[in-house]
Formats: sequence, structure tokens, C-alpha cells
Amino acid sequence: MLSRMSSASPSASSTPSSSLPAPAPFSIAYPAAPQRWDVIVAGGGPAGVSAAIAAAREGARTLLLERTCSLGGMGTSALVPAWCPFSDKKQMLYGGIAAEIFALSKEGTPHVNPAELDWVPIDAEHLKRVYESVAVKAGVQILFDTFMVGVQRDSDSRVRHVIAANKQGLTALEASVFIDTTGDADLVAFAGGEFARGDAAGSLMPGTLCFILGGVNEEAYPRVPRFFTPTIEEIIASGRYPEIPDRHLCHNKVGTGCVGFNAGHLYDVDNTDPFGVSRAMIQGRRMALEYRNALREFFPEAFGQAHLVQTGALLGARETRRIIGEYTITLDDYLDRRSFPDDVCRNAYFIDIHLSREEASKAKDWDKAVCHRFKQYEPGESHGIPYRALVPRALRNVLVAGRCISTDKVVQGSVRVMPVCLATGQAAGTAAAMAALGFGGDVHAVEGTSVRARLAERGCWLPEGSAQTSPPAEAEQVVREVAGAPA
Ligand SMILES: Cc1cc2nc3c(=O)[nH]c(=O)nc-3n(C[C@H](O)[C@H](O)[C@H](O)COP(=O)(O)OP(=O)(O)OC[C@H]3O[C@@H](n4cnc5c(N)ncnc54)[C@H](O)[C@@H]3O)c2cc1C
Repeated sequence: MLSRMSSASPSASSTPSSSLPAPAPFSIAYPAAPQRWDVIVAGGGPAGVSAAIAAAREGARTLLLERTCSLGGMGTSALVPAWCPFSDKKQMLYGGIAAEIFALSKEGTPHVNPAELDWVPIDAEHLKRVYESVAVKAGVQILFDTFMVGVQRDSDSRVRHVIAANKQGLTALEASVFIDTTGDADLVAFAGGEFARGDAAGSLMPGTLCFILGGVNEEAYPRVPRFFTPTIEEIIASGRYPEIPDRHLCHNKVGTGCVGFNAGHLYDVDNTDPFGVSRAMIQGRRMALEYRNALREFFPEAFGQAHLVQTGALLGARETRRIIGEYTITLDDYLDRRSFPDDVCRNAYFIDIHLSREEASKAKDWDKAVCHRFKQYEPGESHGIPYRALVPRALRNVLVAGRCISTDKVVQGSVRVMPVCLATGQAAGTAAAMAALGFGGDVHAVEGTSVRARLAERGCWLPEGSAQTSPPAEAEQVVREVAGAPA
């Protein structure tokens, strides 16, 4: 405290004149038994919120830990500006909680046709409240501002506690089943579970720091080309914007006069390396300002008055760890449009692997290089995601949902998108509740076909095989009534 400091200038040899009380000993607090949960979900992104809602609706006492102070992960805190398609280019592919959240999210973007299923923009503030209201209504206990920093495991591969770090220090939180929805498979890694990372050399897709420009001219904006092509080439060639690294420049109107950008790449960053993330965030914020300046110069009608309102509070991380599960979905499964008896949802998104720095510098046709590495599915085609891809090998009471489920590197580039994360989240939450309430927490004892049956009862769409004949009956209207309006 300044008032107690000596007026003499401090020197290396000076010692404090009064002795301080001993610092509090380093320890982990163990709350009393009533604080035991049926299900603890670590990470409140789309997968985690959906998992927690599903578990709570099945009657499990559910705690959702989130390191930030809002739900939604990449779609809110990282400002990803749009939902990837909910359709298979023919019809709606998702029922259940995914359809429910999607319908409520659309209320925040009234400038979009409510019947639209693909690439619907996101109003991040609205979506935060949607997630909160549906989770609270389901009975989920939300714990913000809390980082899951470790795990205590029994010798029988059963996780007993996660260690939560927050303003109260370190606390061991006990549950019957744990769901890892950190996006980075932190819980599985801390528990000693198996995981893979990137390609054979460990290299990962680049990240992006998304941002929002306000003050955009609404009349001129619709005339801006979809990906700013070919002007983005001129912007880079001008040499005036050295922070702009490549031609990746997606944008969506997210509110009145506000455009959300998923633009540029941050190379050589791993979201599980905090020093690397710190460097990338600083670089990303410089990059966002350069985009604003470049667009002001090259598109003065639309962006002449544009203001950089906000950059993401989280780095946009596309790929880090992915677990090794009881089943690993492979490229062959994807290309074969394969279905499994224990499918818990379907995926129709294209394989969207962002280019490495080297690939980006050589790519002549950017769209072809990014969107057509593999032939895209025809309308109505999709593949299944089996329950076993959510079940880490060798851990008895842990499930995973979201972008780090068990796939090979290539398929991760497809299943990582938010509609799929919502759907795998609901599957993991449902299975976790079944394991906690009926099988002593053993997720391996839960039959995937039973999870599938329960999901179907809950309105999820699980057609036999990929021969899809009927969309979920009025899914959006039905779930809208269940959820009620967000606060
Ligand atoms: C730049 C970018 C653009 C994208 N564009 C699209 C798009 O247009 N449409 C689309 O649908 N998808 C898009 N995606 C993909 C999608 O947003 C993510 O893959 C998806 O959000 C992953 O969901 P998740 O729930 O698995 O993880 P996340 O969304 O990453 O959520 C994880 C949550 O867990 C929390 N967390 C992490 N570790 C801990 C811990 N140890 N303790 C406590 N909390 C923790 C995080 O704070 C976060 O809230 C994009 C991704 C990126 C990076």
C-alpha cells in the first residue's frame, strides 16, 4: 500500500521494516458432500451449453464451468459471426436443443429471413442471453469466471474431481460423470487420456481473431463483393497493410450498421500455449485495425465511417487436441457417407481445412483450395457421428463433445462447426445423465443405441442411414414453445 511505503527510494538491499503475516498456504479446498454433482461440464461453448441443458433435463444435478463470464465460446466470446449450415442443402438436419438454440438465436437477427437455415448471422450479445436463459430454465448451475486447471483421478481410470481455479482459489469439484467441452480436450489431457494433435507433424490450422465494425453504411454495404474479391488482392499488393496476411475475408451483417468479420489468419498458434495465444491476440488486434483502415480506403461508401467496435475476447481456435475415442471417424467414413447403429447426429458440412501459411502463399484459386479439397456432398447427403466417438478410451466416467471429438485430422475440419457441436453436446449430456443416474457413472456401460433412442424421443433427427426422407416435424416451432423467450 502506497501510504505505508517509506519515502526513501527503494534499493535492492532494503528490507521491509514490519513483518507480514505468513501467506495463506497453497491448498485445494474440498467442499462438503452435498456439493457433489451428477454431471460436471467443463467449458460453456455450444457443445458445453447443449450438454449441460441435456443432462439437466434428464434430471441430473449439473454444474457448468466456464472460464469467461459468458456462454457460447467461439460463437459469442470469440465473435464468430455466423452459424454454419443447419441444412444438408435440402432440409433441416438438426432437431432437439440445436434447433431450439438456433430458432432463439435468429430472433437477434431480424434482418434475416427466419426460414433461412444456412449461414445465419449471429448477434453475440443476444446469443449469450439465449444460452443463459435456456440453461438456467433447464436447471443448470452455471459457474463463470472459473478455469478447470486439473483433474484428480482414481487408479481405476475414474476421474473423481476437477480442480477449479477462481477468485476463491483452488477447489476440487466432485461428480459422477464429467463432460469435456473445452474445445481443446483439456480435461482428457489433464486426466492422462489419449489424444492427437493436428497432422503427423503436429501442425494445426491457423486461428483468427474475429472482430466487429460499426458505423457501416447500410445502403452501400450490400454492394460489397461477398469475399471482397478481387479487391483483397489489391489491398495486399498495395503494401500499405502489412498485417493483412492473406485473402481470407468473410463477413456478415450482425446488427444495424454492424458487420462481423472472420478475416485473416494467425499462423503458428496453439490455443493450449498461453504465451503463443498472448502473442496472437496482440497481433490479431493490430490486424483488425488494418482491415478497418483498408476497407475505409478501398470501400469508402460502405466503410468510410466504420469504427472498430470490438475484437473477440477469445482467440478463434479451429484446431488443437482431439481425443482418441472408442471409435475414430475417418475420411473414408466421411466419403462413404457412413452411418452407424449408435449414431447420435449427422453432419453434412464440407471439409473446411484452412490453408497453412505456405499453402496460402501458393494458392491460385482460394475458393477451390479451401472449399473443394474434397468433393462436397450433394443435397440430402450426410454421414453419421457415433456415440463411441464421444467416449474417450480408458477413462471410465468422461465424455467429450464439440470440436475435439474422436475423428482423424481431416474430418475434424468438418465436424468442428457449431451446429454439429450443439448436437454432440446434447448426445454427451444425455448419455452422461444416463450413466450418472443408472450406471454408477460408467459411460462405457451406456449403450449407444439407447442414447440414440432417447435423443429421438427428445426431438433430435436421426434418420436410418443417409436416405433422408422427412425433416424433423416443425422442429423449430415445437422447440420454441418448450424454451420460451429468452430474458
Ligand atoms: C475463426 C473461426 C471461425 C469459425 N466460423 C464458424 C462459422 O462461421 N460457423 C460455425 O458454425 N462454426 C464456425 N467455427 C467453428 C466453431 O465456432 C467452433 O469449432 C465451435 O464453437 C466449437 O465449439 P466447442 O463448444 O467445442 O468449443 P468452443 O466454442 O471453443 O467453447 C469452449 C468453451 O470452453 C471454455 N473453456 C476452455 N477451456 C476451459 C477450461 N480449461 N476451463 C473452463 N472453461 C474452459 C472456453 O472459454 C469456451 O467458452 C469457426 C471457428 C473459428 C475459430
